[in-house]
Amino acid sequence: MLPYQNLHQAEAALGRELTIAEKLWLNYSANKPDYLLHYHNILFLILFYSIAPLPYMFIELSRSKRIDKHKIQSKIKNSFQDMLKCYKDVVQTFIVVVGPLQVSSYPFIKLIGIRTSLSLPSGGEMFWQLLVYFLIEDYTGYWVHRLLHSNGGYEKIHHVHHEYSAPMGFAGPYAHWSEILILGMPAFLGPAVVPGHITTYWLWFVLRQIEAIETHSGYDFSWSPTRFVPFYGGARYHDYHHYVGRHSQSNFASVFTYCDYLYGTDKGYRYHKSIHRKMEETVERNGGHREGSYNSMPAQDFKSE
Ligand SMILES: [Zn+2]
Ligand SMILES: [Zn+2]
Repeated sequence: MLPYQNLHQAEAALGRELTIAEKLWLNYSANKPDYLLHYHNILFLILFYSIAPLPYMFIELSRSKRIDKHKIQSKIKNSFQDMLKCYKDVVQTFIVVVGPLQVSSYPFIKLIGIRTSLSLPSGGEMFWQLLVYFLIEDYTGYWVHRLLHSNGGYEKIHHVHHEYSAPMGFAGPYAHWSEILILGMPAFLGPAVVPGHITTYWLWFVLRQIEAIETHSGYDFSWSPTRFVPFYGGARYHDYHHYVGRHSQSNFASVFTYCDYLYGTDKGYRYHKSIHRKMEETVERNGGHREGSYNSMPAQDFKSE
């Protein structure tokens, strides 16, 4: 809740005119308690999870030859029922597990200093904070994910996320309830280390959610804007991790590729990619049809040592 009754008081306190965004924020948040603003996060989580996979859903349902060349595992087709089941399971986990976590984490959010006040952060401040959040989450998430591929971690928890050997957008957050909690910790770590405005905090979880949906979409579009992000893994990169499945020793990172490169856990993927490229070149030389899929190849992987 903002300590101003009106625009005049807010501008007097800040000693300047408010920007348009700040006026909107004042109108929206002035009379809302901070805990209510914090609880918006679970609404955004469900809202964006319901909207962001829809384009991929329509693409998957209307499969054509033009679309198929972008599908990573082109022999796999998910039905509407498959997607609906996944959606229902994830929303149930959001309501039963993430909702209570959001409610109970409010004192923690206050403690670390997530602010709701004016002024709003600048574009530059938001960008750098979000970049730090992505890097912290990516690095810690890498190690947690790698640990989840140990015997106990996989059998008890992580096998649920790997039920989809050819992932789809809705399967991004599909996981055992405890994995949602475990992997939620690295996501909270960035805002705890570099606390910012609550709008940045909202945006962080929305962007991370959209990124996970794209990464699990099963499609690798040549025009995707994320291709211009340096060291970005993307859909093909993470798809390979699901394709290998249980014994995967490759591509543990959720967003960027640098951790897998540094710790040698991308060797299997790089080998697989080079073999796939050679196969495609041979097919092209023989006048055959070039496919974007690698699921005609056996799943294999290397240990990182
Ligand atoms: Zn995994
Ligand atoms: Zn995954």
